[in-house]
Amino acid sequence: MDYKQVGLICGIEIHQRLDTKYKLFCNCRPQITEEEAIQKIIRKLRAVPGELGDVDPAALYEYFRDKTFIYDYFAKETCLVELDEEPPHPVNSEALEIALTIAEMLKLYIPDEVHVMRKTVIDGSNTSGFQRTMNIGIGKETSLINTNHGPVRIKDLELEEESSGIIEKTGNRMMFRLDRLGIPLVEIGTYPDIHHPDQAREVAEALGMICRMTGKVQRGLGTIRQDVNVSIKDGARIEIKGLQDLRLVAKLVENEVLRQKNLLEIKKILLDKGLKEIKEKIIDVTDIFKNSSSKIIKNVLKKKGRIIATELPKFHGLMKKIIYEKKTLAKEFVDYCKAHGVQGFIHTDEDLSKYKLETEFENLKKKIKATDEDIVLIIAGEENQSKEVAKILIERAKQCLIGIPEETRFAQDDGTTIYARPLPGSARMYPETDIQPVTISNELLSKIKENLPEMPEKKANRFIKEYKLPKEMATQIIHSHSLSQFEELLKKYDKIKASIIANTLLSVPSEIKKKYNLDPDLIQPRFFEEVLGLLQQNKIAKEGITEVIAGLIKTTKVSALKIAEQKDLLMLPKEKVTEIIKQLIKENKDFIEKKGKKAFMGIAMKNLKGKADGKLVNQIINDLIKE
Ligand SMILES: [Zn+2]
Repeated sequence: MDYKQVGLICGIEIHQRLDTKYKLFCNCRPQITEEEAIQKIIRKLRAVPGELGDVDPAALYEYFRDKTFIYDYFAKETCLVELDEEPPHPVNSEALEIALTIAEMLKLYIPDEVHVMRKTVIDGSNTSGFQRTMNIGIGKETSLINTNHGPVRIKDLELEEESSGIIEKTGNRMMFRLDRLGIPLVEIGTYPDIHHPDQAREVAEALGMICRMTGKVQRGLGTIRQDVNVSIKDGARIEIKGLQDLRLVAKLVENEVLRQKNLLEIKKILLDKGLKEIKEKIIDVTDIFKNSSSKIIKNVLKKKGRIIATELPKFHGLMKKIIYEKKTLAKEFVDYCKAHGVQGFIHTDEDLSKYKLETEFENLKKKIKATDEDIVLIIAGEENQSKEVAKILIERAKQCLIGIPEETRFAQDDGTTIYARPLPGSARMYPETDIQPVTISNELLSKIKENLPEMPEKKANRFIKEYKLPKEMATQIIHSHSLSQFEELLKKYDKIKASIIANTLLSVPSEIKKKYNLDPDLIQPRFFEEVLGLLQQNKIAKEGITEVIAGLIKTTKVSALKIAEQKDLLMLPKEKVTEIIKQLIKENKDFIEKKGKKAFMGIAMKNLKGKADGKLVNQIINDLIKE
């Protein structure tokens, strides 16, 4: 794809959780806990027009959905601040200093005074109905990320509170967990200077790496998220939110370009066919279906439901059209219905024989005078709701004539996206009156400037020199999310070679997947600590590291030492090693005479399965074989 020709314009935002002692506006533990919730709190939220000013369409959309929100409350991670029953405490100074450090590293302009603002959010993820955010830095001409596709300007950096995590959504009930709410995070946004999918990935990588250089960011699944804004020529700005896997950034952008391109093509086809407008034609056609042998229809009619039909003129064939990957236009429509909390539909671009509805649809087409160029569709269910679905479908179909509606979409784990809501307007911030502005003193700024973390390249060179890491390994560890743990482990386990620590952090996750078919995301940071602790004490050999970690994943409650014992990975005592070698010498007398001691050493090590130190084995062999 020639991205220049399609006119790709893309900006990126990364959200990185900070690793602080407390949350941003209270003294709770900023962690996702493994403990059970101790209480559930039920709430109804509503938008207050006075505070919102002009309510934007996104807010209104959420507002009109009559929802019940249920919040999980935890012992150590939640207090009255998360419940919005107590005013927020002053801004966490540790979080503020980390944010200022990153702003300095990115060469941003830092304001003299930091103001906490409220950003309207009424999807229930914030109990207060808004998210607190503060601007910490604004991009200057020199605030650039250099990539292989050219420089990208940084726009700004915000310090924000994390929202609560959604657990479940069933109908009008949404369940959230409050442990996540209030964890400090930095949001860094770029200008839309990105013109290639790979460039988007490069920028996301570079920004993530700069954050990690502070050694003060959380690691693990969900601790960093990327949002991208994508548009193409004649397309529209689409905001894609919540991508967790950095490797999918480029694919996500590629897919969105394809989606917009194909939606524009559909628009052209419809216009070429002479379609000018889509009229709302919604009729009850239950009569046609009353003797249907279709299971779906029978079930609906048994429950006194109705069959509602509508038509999309000139859409024949288009519902099957692939928009990107395996997603068809029909799937876009289905996602749109789902976001509005309603079920799907059956249409004439589908294989109707699988529903046993061919005859009924023939009669239906006659009744509403649809031609072969049109799509006829039915919605089966409760009468009012089905009519609502029909309206939503027509609304989405009308957008096909415009081309691409501006909207927010959610990133999925496979690099595809689904419709979330209309794009929010921009004027939705107002000052947080419960928190005093924070003055950024010159003393504080100088302290931060004097203690700036090493930039990535410098750090890599130091690793090569100081710890004798091979160049490739040094680069890999700098790019990895395990960097700060690597540095912690280096300090803690000074008897272990740096390359063994780096290799453990870099290779064990993929080996865990390959050899043991386990999810590497289940490796907790403490697993590495425990297993390297055993290595430092000479209790296991480095060959046993992966197996112990696999064991820890399977049974988290057992210690690494216990697992090493169970798996027979503990180092053997000297007497036992001597005994085994004595026996091996007896069995391999001829071999030793022919090939010598050195070759025998290999046999001995293989038989000991790494459970003895090479030096010790060598010494025992030398003592036993005097020649
Ligand atoms: Zn709290």
